[in-house]
Amino acid sequence: MKRLLVLAAAAASLVVNAQTAFPAKPITIVVPFAAGGPTDRVARDLAEAMRKPLGGAIIVVDNAVGAGGSIGANKVAKAAPDGYTLLLHHIGMATMPTLVRNMPFKVETDFEYLGMINDVPMTVIGKPQLAATNFADLRKWINENKSKANLANAGVGSASHLCGLLLQQALGVDMTTVPYKGTAPALADLIGGQVDLLCDQTTNTSSQIEGKKVKAYAVTTAKRLSTAALRDLPTLQESGLKGAEVTIWHGLYAPKGTPADVLSKLNAALKVALKDPDFNKKQEGLGAVVVVDKRVEPAEHKKFVLAEIAKWSPIIKAAGVYAD
Ligand code: ASP
Repeated sequence: MKRLLVLAAAAASLVVNAQTAFPAKPITIVVPFAAGGPTDRVARDLAEAMRKPLGGAIIVVDNAVGAGGSIGANKVAKAAPDGYTLLLHHIGMATMPTLVRNMPFKVETDFEYLGMINDVPMTVIGKPQLAATNFADLRKWINENKSKANLANAGVGSASHLCGLLLQQALGVDMTTVPYKGTAPALADLIGGQVDLLCDQTTNTSSQIEGKKVKAYAVTTAKRLSTAALRDLPTLQESGLKGAEVTIWHGLYAPKGTPADVLSKLNAALKVALKDPDFNKKQEGLGAVVVVDKRVEPAEHKKFVLAEIAKWSPIIKAAGVYAD
């Protein structure tokens, strides 16, 4: 009996040691969109800022792309719940449940919520060849061209898809949509003139707007932005279009069932990263607002995502677009 107790105690201490040793190997952050795009950029900057609070851990980014972000999210939903595979996703976590009919996972129950990262405005931009120099002229051009005008996005359920839906609904025009595996390749094609329009995060578009590589028409927030590169950009409302306001956000997730002590280490590291001056400087320069409110707490993060699902569901249903 005594021997058994000693063995049990030794086993328990091994478990504790294994838990306290986290992380003992590289951590992977799955990004469900293409490398070089806005979600990818947030993940790489965040990975850098989370290294130190995780004892210098190696954190790599895995771009598991396709299906508007649901392939990467599904990969993490099905991954081992050990804290070594995480998901960085955006507002798609709240739009996919309505936009995608047969989702292979459940946003509400298949993840541990680790905390939110930032809020990011979107911008409506066009290929450099477009003659329109302001939103009113662009609107005229869209009305004249209708489905001949095309709009790139990162697939059904993505932020650019949502923004495009809102725009088309507010304009009362159906354009042709062109899906990509992320808005990095969509932006490259826009600059090259292969597609006409894109609505995308400022974290991807601000330097292209500043460098005049694209035509910039409007920002999707209620107020103008203060970032140097974007402060001259009017809001959609100012430009006479109501009902297309959207601000997107990013959060960090782990598979359901990840041990509580691992989750709290990851959340603590996230909180340190969100205060990191370098991370903040990079984010602010790109028009993103780093989260400082209670949404850095896992329970509040989840509450926010559930509220976003409830907010966007009727809007998406009214726009009438679903995919299998
Ligand atoms: N901005 C993309 C979207 O529209 C995703 C990305 O490429 O980061 O959802």
